[in-house]
This record gives sequence, C-alpha cells and structure tokens, in this order.
Amino acid sequence: MSSLHEEKVLDVRHWTDRLFSFRTTRDPSFRFRNGEFTMIGIKVNGKPLLRAYSLASANYEEQLEFLSIKVPEGPLTSQLQHLKVGDQVIVSRKATGTLVVDNLHAGRNLYLLSTGTGLAPFLSVIKDPETYDRFEKVVLVHGVRHVSELAFKDSIAEDLPKDELLGELVSEKLIYYPTVTREPFRNNGRITALMESGKLYADLGLAPLEAEHDRVMICGGPHMLADIKQHLLDRNFIEGNHGEPGQFVVEKAFVDK
Ligand SMILES: Cc1cc2nc3c(=O)[nH]c(=O)nc-3n(C[C@H](O)[C@H](O)[C@H](O)COP(=O)(O)OP(=O)(O)OC[C@H]3O[C@@H](n4cnc5c(N)ncnc54)[C@H](O)[C@@H]3O)c2cc1C
Repeated sequence: MSSLHEEKVLDVRHWTDRLFSFRTTRDPSFRFRNGEFTMIGIKVNGKPLLRAYSLASANYEEQLEFLSIKVPEGPLTSQLQHLKVGDQVIVSRKATGTLVVDNLHAGRNLYLLSTGTGLAPFLSVIKDPETYDRFEKVVLVHGVRHVSELAFKDSIAEDLPKDELLGELVSEKLIYYPTVTREPFRNNGRITALMESGKLYADLGLAPLEAEHDRVMICGGPHMLADIKQHLLDRNFIEGNHGEPGQFVVEKAFVDK
C-alpha cells in the first residue's frame, strides 16, 4: 500500500494574509497520536511536493485539519494557500513527533507553549481526554504578533467548553492564555518574558514552573524554542523523547532555511 493518500478539501478558512486552515477527508486506516505531525502536500508537475504538518484535528475525529502559514515564495505554501473546496491534498499515512503525552512523566500541570503555527499540534492535544486524565490543569499559551493571528481563538475559548464529550473536563481543567506582542490585548508580551517576570503565573493563579510537578510541551520558531528550552534547563527540567519520557518535550514549528 502506498504511504501517500489523496484527501479531498472540505473547508478552507483564511485567518490573515499569512495564515489559513483547512479540513480534509480522512482515510479511516490513517492512525496517529494527538500532537504528531505527518507529511502533506500537492502534486507539482506530476510529482508530490510535501512538507511536515502537525495534525490539528484529534485522532478520533472523522476529518483532518491543518493550520498553515503562507510563505509568499515558499515552494509549497505559495500554491497551497489557493486551495479550494474539492481540491486534492496528499497526506502521508506515517505520523510521528515528540509532542505526545506519553513522552512526559506524570505531573501536576501541563503547559503547552506555542507561537504562530506551533499552536497546531496542541489543538489535537487539548481535544484528547487522556490529556485531562493525566493532568490537573492544562495551560495552552499561544503567542502571536497581532490579535488576528490568534487562530481558533473562539473554538478554544467558547466552543470546546460546550463540547458534548469534553466540555466538562475542558471547563474544569483547560486554561487558554493567548498573548500578543505588537498591539494592545488583554495579555501582552513574549512568552519567555512573561515566564521570566512571573506575570504568566500571576495571571493564571498558578505557582511558577517546577520540574518536580510541572510538565511542558513547546512548539514554535527557532528563537522561541531555544529561549524556553534554556529557561527550563536553568530550572533543572529534563528533556524527554520517544525513548525516554522527561519533564518537557520540544518540536520545531518550522525549519529556518
Ligand atoms: C515538525 C514540523 C511540523 C510542522 N508543522 C507545520 C504546521 O502545522 N503548519 C505550517 O504552516 N507549517 C508547519 N511546518 C513547516 C512546513 O513544513 C513548511 O516549512 C511550510 O509549510 C512552508 O513550506 P514552503 O514549501 O512554502 O516553504 P519552505 O521552503 O518550507 O519554508 C520557507 C521559509 O518560510 C519560513 N516558514 C516555514 N514554515 C513556517 C511556519 N509554519 N511559520 C513561520 N515561518 C515559516 C521559514 O523561515 C522557512 O525557511 C512544520 C515543520 C516541521 C519541521
């Protein structure tokens, strides 16, 4: 069986001129863990042009969802941004990634720290009942430059707490903390600055991060990853991966070329 499958686009939403999301059909045999990524793309001159994409839909949902950047000169996204309902998208059946709860030791609170499209893997993690079984509080932090880039803001803050299956767990345990750096908003500033100053914890009403109790997943651009990783290492957090669970895990939201 080929590892590549063609799926049909069901819905496209443009959030800004740099950001869009889309849903596709899902081959029922495609299995993945919440938080993982796979390769997706389109055919260019008859050949598949693929890039890594996080699965933004949960693994029990019938459709797949992706959150995508639009890079004006990007080989894939300069074309992908023009997707229309009914178009075909190639999706690999092989999913992988480190942002899965099994890669973390049991703990008290789970922090999901993201910038930009780094939100995508956490959209599936916050829809996973196991996430709420394992942690007392789940804190989703999404850092962006402009308010319009807070993709899925209303789905997270308003729809998910009303969800038939998850609503009760989400209302009790999920804290959504969007923060914006370049215009006024209820939360302002970079994630690392908010952690360093302690403002994040004061706003959340939670104790500052402690390696003994708290677990962290990070997904964002290269600078954000390096800064937060250092912040955690300075506080004696141990990084986990597939082989060995730890107190935090990291995934790149993209690779700077
Ligand atoms: C593990 C992993 C998971 C990923 N998941 C996603 C995802 O869910 N959604 C998504 O949009 N992209 C994701 N990416 C990035 C994605 O693989 C592509 O790089 C992106 O789709 C652009 O493709 P391109 O061919 O148009 O340009 P590329 O040639 O791939 O990239 C050109 C340049 O654009 C910038 N860039 C690329 N992707 C992004 C991004 N997401 N945010 C900000 N700047 C970026 C970088 O500076 C890069 O050097 C992921 C990458 C990795 C490694």
